Amino acid sequence: MKKQTLACLFVAVAIVTVMVAGPRSAAASHFTHWILIRAPFSGYWDRFGIAHPSSHHTPFGGDWGVDFYAPPGTGGTFFIANSNGLPAYGVVADRRPSCGGKDWAGWAYRFGLYDSSGYRGWYLVAHVSETNSIGSPYYLQPGTTIYNGNFIGWTAQYNYSNCYQVTNASGVHWHIEAFQPRHYSCYFPYPSGTYLVSGQDMGAVGSNATAPRRPCW
Ligand SMILES: [Zn+2]
Repeated sequence: MKKQTLACLFVAVAIVTVMVAGPRSAAASHFTHWILIRAPFSGYWDRFGIAHPSSHHTPFGGDWGVDFYAPPGTGGTFFIANSNGLPAYGVVADRRPSCGGKDWAGWAYRFGLYDSSGYRGWYLVAHVSETNSIGSPYYLQPGTTIYNGNFIGWTAQYNYSNCYQVTNASGVHWHIEAFQPRHYSCYFPYPSGTYLVSGQDMGAVGSNATAPRRPCW
């Protein structure tokens, strides 16, 4: 009996210790619930080690950005989820050319992300093609509500430019960014070249990361 009480005490101490110490990741320790941003297709995360979210540029003003690679003509889908299973959805905030000036490298779509807490931030995909190889056009009107599983568009290879430095099909990618208005959104810390399956977690908005370009987990 006495032994059992002691064991219970140890368990209680262990639980309290875990609660005080908390999760190791600074960002995770502040999360209550957040919106997960998931891979729009199966492909390579920073395939060539030149566009990792720890350092990649964010020309659209995001907290982090990454290049995510797949062959030309790959279809991309809007995959998101609230981390607690609550309803979550997006709204097409804007659609504009991915590159400025005369350079053309597809469309950039920015999706506002919402759940039961309201607006949490945004997720952007650039270099989106609105036609596929069989020529059927597809277009998302700004203001449209978009749900998990809805189609976005295709990958394509565009002409090389300063803005789009791709010389062959292996370099075809979507540039991805995420942003949240308070604190910073964060990314999953995959090493460069990791192959992600469509729908796998890429990052989150609604985090309490204390700086841009930080991993969530
Ligand atoms: Zn990029």
